[in-house]
Amino acid sequence: MKRISILGSTGSIGKNSLDVVSRQKERYCIAYLTANRNLERLLEQAKRFHPKAVVIIDTNRVAEFKPQFQQIGVELLSGFEGLLEISARDDVDIVINALVGAVGLRPTLNAIKPGCRIALANKETLVLGGELVMARCKEQGAELVPIDSEHSALLQCLLGERTEDIEQLILTASGGPFRKKAVEEFREVTLGEALNHPNWNMGPKITIDSATLMNKGLEVIEAFWLFGLELSKINVVIHPQSIVHSLVEFVDGSVKAQLGLPDMRVPIQYALTYPKRLSATFPRLDLAEWQKLTFEAPDLEKFRCLKLAFAALEQGGVAPAILNASNEEAVNLFLSERIRFDQIPELVESALNSCETNSYHDIDDLLQYDQMARSHVIDKCKSSF
Ligand code: MG
Repeated sequence: MKRISILGSTGSIGKNSLDVVSRQKERYCIAYLTANRNLERLLEQAKRFHPKAVVIIDTNRVAEFKPQFQQIGVELLSGFEGLLEISARDDVDIVINALVGAVGLRPTLNAIKPGCRIALANKETLVLGGELVMARCKEQGAELVPIDSEHSALLQCLLGERTEDIEQLILTASGGPFRKKAVEEFREVTLGEALNHPNWNMGPKITIDSATLMNKGLEVIEAFWLFGLELSKINVVIHPQSIVHSLVEFVDGSVKAQLGLPDMRVPIQYALTYPKRLSATFPRLDLAEWQKLTFEAPDLEKFRCLKLAFAALEQGGVAPAILNASNEEAVNLFLSERIRFDQIPELVESALNSCETNSYHDIDDLLQYDQMARSHVIDKCKSSF
């Protein structure tokens, strides 16, 4: 029986993870669950999966829910401290990090211990702390297995291959809802249009990131750290059907791809069973039914967020952290309808340009730059928009 903790169990990845676990009850059990605000759902999940403890990150509502968790005999911790404590506990075999945003970095670092597997859906962990996280995993003998469908696809294509035989990694991107929209029309994009992703049903932050293609930019950075290749060997192709999840080209010109219906339960289960597989009854891909899969080059002038992500990775140091933090804040502002869609890349670019230094000493230092980038975006929004 493998013991699993899910950080962020009430979001899209968290719910899908619990669905996977519920289908494999003889193999996996739930040790810990954490949630930020959706506490009714957390309580339901606790009743169904009987974790040892849960964490409510938003401390404002702890008192309201305390008696209910007490009644079902589940220990209740609270706040970011509770999250850090749970992520550091060693009575778990697999930690699924499904947190959204830079807040996911410290829990990942805490979870790195000998013999522990981290199934990573929080891309910011690697965008910010890629160097540190990869080094610590190696040193501690912990495994980092991606949940992101593109990285799961790459991992599957790379199984049994040698790093020196890789010519390039090709990440696929759906192109989001505005693939065919003229850049001049980006000014008029509404929140509702941006939240309407053509293929995937995800949380609001990642859905907006998919519409700007920042999501793909963050995934390029994630791939850079996960697979240890130089940046010139990581490329993006637009594939609107989201059936080919990513591809690897090898030095002999051969290309391997991983395909499947867009269903996150497949890469989640694979992150649990890797390098083996488990039989599952998820809906199957019928290629004859699809008939046509199409591909096109991404337009980096139109989707400036993707271009900025490549530039930030090239620059290295604190730049990816600034890219990520400024984007998180800009997306929040867009979600609360305080800025326009086309102002997201403007704010990110402005934050990147405002930073004078490039190197950092440690994680605290790095998180200071994260804070500075957030303040920059908020100040800029107040002063000029
Ligand atoms: Mg993805």
